Amino acid sequence: MFELFFTPGPSALYFTAEEHIKTALKKGVCSTSHRGQQFKDIYKECQQNLRKLMDIPEDYHILITSSANEAWERIIENCVEKESYHVSMGAFSQRFAKIATQLGRTAHELVVEDGTVPNFDAIDVPESAEIITLCLNESACGTSFPLETINALREKYPNKLIAIDGVSGVPVVPIDFRNIDTLYFSVQKAFGLPAGLGIWIVNNRCLEKAEKMAAEGNTIGSYHRLPDMVEKAQVFQTAETPNILGIYTLAKVASDMLEKGILAIRREIDYKSAILNQVIEAHPQLHHFVEKEKYRSKTVKVIRCDFESNLLIDHLKQKKIHVGTGYGGYKKEQIRIANFPTHSKEQTEMLVDLIEAFKF
Ligand SMILES: *Cc1c(COP(=O)(O)O)cnc(C)c1O
Repeated sequence: MFELFFTPGPSALYFTAEEHIKTALKKGVCSTSHRGQQFKDIYKECQQNLRKLMDIPEDYHILITSSANEAWERIIENCVEKESYHVSMGAFSQRFAKIATQLGRTAHELVVEDGTVPNFDAIDVPESAEIITLCLNESACGTSFPLETINALREKYPNKLIAIDGVSGVPVVPIDFRNIDTLYFSVQKAFGLPAGLGIWIVNNRCLEKAEKMAAEGNTIGSYHRLPDMVEKAQVFQTAETPNILGIYTLAKVASDMLEKGILAIRREIDYKSAILNQVIEAHPQLHHFVEKEKYRSKTVKVIRCDFESNLLIDHLKQKKIHVGTGYGGYKKEQIRIANFPTHSKEQTEMLVDLIEAFKF
């Protein structure tokens, strides 16, 4: 049997990824020039398939970065002149505020207790903040930011940019792009691809902000200045030699997901999420870290164990099943389990049976 990865990222590859990578190698995708027609066709197909799969409006630009980390830096450099506002729900969302500070901005930060999500009323954004940053799915804690709060923030703060970290949430969580200005993700989580590629989606409000900042003499970066990235993306080009194999594989996997149907994918996620919840709730020594069901992620389950979490992690490893440790300081007391589109119902049922039978 193969090793089965339920780790929250990198995770199991999408089940068709290997075939696509093999085909790419045969077709010379890794050796082709990024200035040639073959690459342009690949990037175009990637943009088109993502647009369809994630319902991205035509006037939002789909750009290539190296990772979500890069998107944090790009957004600050291009869209924030002085002040940003960050909702931090755990280690990943906190990094955004840190990067803003490192780049010399004033980062206002609402830090909530791990495993919780702030109420709409608690999110009090100062007049001077130019952007609000939110994390759809805090992979460190297993919390999920409610879509209705995003929409309400848009109504309350129509003049501020809204940036969404979609890393372990998309394409599962249905985002209404009209209510946000930018969203970014890395491909090694819910898309099930090898790491080393990020997608940064931006609207023209972000672009205009970057242009204005540049015109006023601010530095907005170097090879990845937003206006240049948009200009290049419109002709399916990138400034640097990009991760061509990654872009190719993403285009193909997005196409496979389209063929399967995003609704079918979401239904499967719901089923697998429900049986994972059941086993956590039925097991006397396991507990949800996120207490309120409404804020619990469907795609990353974070479980508090009454024993050292390594015992269960190692037990599963002997069966060639890999789950994640707790994040950071929670390493020894928690486990994290991914429920991504590539994880089949049968694989998840097998995992659930093994967890159910494990008693310490
Ligand atoms: C994994 C993750 C990131 C970081 O992704 P990189 O590819 O390492 O840049 C950011 N945000 C969330 C929510 C994540 O899960």
